[in-house]
Amino acid sequence: MKKKILVTGGAGFIGSHLCMKLLEMNNEVICMDNFITGNINNINVLLKNPHFEIIRHDVTIPLDLDIDEIYNLACPASPVSYQEDPVQTIKTCVTGAINMLELANKLKIKILQASTSEVYGDPEIHPQVEEYWGRVNPIGIRSCYDEGKRCAETLFFDYHRQNNLKIKVARIFNTYGPFMQPDDGRVVSNFIIQALKKDNLTIFGDGNHTRSFCYVEDLVEGLTSLMNSPNDFTGPVNLGNNNETTIIELAELIIKLSGSTSGIVFKVLPLDDPQIRCPNIVKAEKILGWKAQISLEEGLLKTIDYFRNLLNSDLQTSFN
Ligand code: NAD
Ligand code: UDP
Repeated sequence: MKKKILVTGGAGFIGSHLCMKLLEMNNEVICMDNFITGNINNINVLLKNPHFEIIRHDVTIPLDLDIDEIYNLACPASPVSYQEDPVQTIKTCVTGAINMLELANKLKIKILQASTSEVYGDPEIHPQVEEYWGRVNPIGIRSCYDEGKRCAETLFFDYHRQNNLKIKVARIFNTYGPFMQPDDGRVVSNFIIQALKKDNLTIFGDGNHTRSFCYVEDLVEGLTSLMNSPNDFTGPVNLGNNNETTIIELAELIIKLSGSTSGIVFKVLPLDDPQIRCPNIVKAEKILGWKAQISLEEGLLKTIDYFRNLLNSDLQTSFN
């Protein structure tokens, strides 16, 4: 049955891929975004689709719509952008969650929250299991995002317990792919742009700390599987690729795959930057039958291609 689905943050990196997938699954999609870190170019191809609509709106302001499901993704996700206006980041996480939960509760519809591996902070348990409560600095420079997302999870579970609302909570681990913003400071986009421009790749710290990178198509498949999982499964569930990589290995791989002659420089590690991160995905495998399929090499090659085309078109525009 065709559903009318609201995607908040739908013009962002993950949101734009999700809107495309939901349309392919034969739904009507309403993308709501204030474009603070999103980009209209991410959804340009969808604009002529009669089943797709955009609303420019800030999720911290209540919204009334007639819809069947909500995916709540609105929130800047890169440390550089969420630290630019930390108070607005918390408001987006908390007031945004309340507004979307109120709407879902009024309509008695299912709502999915894009939570994050950042709820585990700088973890003592490795790989991270959903039962782990995390180690987050409540007053640090990353807290506006980490604590905002933790509070949003609390709100989701309180609405579920108090109002019997159908909720789904995904803890998303580092995701990469086409439509990442080239200047949002995340490691994959930074390294690829630096490699393509033959600039030195900037490693923060000694590069021995780790992340586990998931290609965006895999992630979006995980989000829709979670939304369509049995009603009694709320999550939280980790969604990510469990292939753990050091930042230095990532830099070397990107230099190799892009055929670049760039070198590497080491800079200061930002405060509270987690040392290790890798999802335990047993729950996602068992309950959703989901596991990331795309290898880091394969995903990086696609992402490098995307950024190469983007840089070439930027170059052409600046010559015209
Ligand atoms: P993104 O910054 O590309 O997308 C976020 C989108 O939300 C943007 O289009 C932005 O304009 C919009 N937005 C921000 N504040 C808003 C507001 N107040 N009202 C309306 N729209 C607003 O980030 P992304 O990587 O696509 O992340 C999407 C979601 O997934 C976020 O909630 C993020 O926390 C979560 N997540 C992402 C990752 C990742 O690795 N990309 C990891 C964990 C969790
Ligand atoms: N990082 C880096 N060089 C960069 C950008 C990021 O070494 O140019 C590091 C960053 O300090 C962190 C890791 O790469 O340890 C992942 O950073 P990102 O911002 O992509 O995601 P997050 O820290 O939120 O996992």
